[in-house]
Amino acid sequence: MTDSAPVFSAADTEQVTCCLCGDAGKQVYDLPPYGVRRCTRCTLVFVSPRLQGPALSRFYDQVDYFEGGVYGDRSRWSPAMVLQRIWTSGRLDRIARARSAASSGRSGGGQRLLEFGSGYGLFLATARGRGYQVQGVELSRPAAEATKGLDIDVYCGQLVDAPLTSPYDVICGWDTLEHVPDPLAVLRRIRELIAEDGTVALSTPYFSSLPSRLLRERWWTLKPTEHIWHYTPYTLRLLTARAGFTVTDVIRSPLARANLTRLDSLVVLLRPNPVRP
Ligand SMILES: [Zn+2]
Repeated sequence: MTDSAPVFSAADTEQVTCCLCGDAGKQVYDLPPYGVRRCTRCTLVFVSPRLQGPALSRFYDQVDYFEGGVYGDRSRWSPAMVLQRIWTSGRLDRIARARSAASSGRSGGGQRLLEFGSGYGLFLATARGRGYQVQGVELSRPAAEATKGLDIDVYCGQLVDAPLTSPYDVICGWDTLEHVPDPLAVLRRIRELIAEDGTVALSTPYFSSLPSRLLRERWWTLKPTEHIWHYTPYTLRLLTARAGFTVTDVIRSPLARANLTRLDSLVVLLRPNPVRP
């Protein structure tokens, strides 16, 4: 974050409740103008007060949001880019393994893959190289423009507003679900879009991680301006179940390629539950 980053006050915020229970929660950390709260029923952690619509747009419209902290130096051999490539290949391998276990037994080879929060399109470009037919959704205009420059079809906006045609064989969201205003609505939209034998893959920071528990309000990933939902393996199961999914894999090890070096984040794979007649 640079000195030019917008400064927000209580007037830019709104109160929200747990997206699963409607509970106002109990305060965990007080970080004015924000609060970090935990649902008293299901234990899902969320930010309230949090930035509301116009202020949030102002935050994400900063060019340096993506140019700076999120992707770091985008030159080919920068440490950030080397890690991105390791994660991408580890995650695509995990997805391929889940796909071959799924009933169809297909992987790559013309399957449709959608990424929401596709950033600069680096993951999509690699997935395309493995034979997937790829498509992205990205809120940041500069990032979406860069993706179009790779000749990848990308919708600039929110997933719930994107004109998409189901079914997709694979839907991915890397470090996105903690940012969206309503994660249940996003997951329900993904449930509509995914094939009945499809695979969903997500990564997100987790609140029960060691860095979070040790560093508490100094946890570097807390970032209450942008990370407005904080999950645990347990609350991710609850949330995804409500949207019609079963968690099939949870990858927490910082030694796994899909999650390399990440002490406070995890990767989950989901399969859709059969629709009840
Ligand atoms: Zn709750």
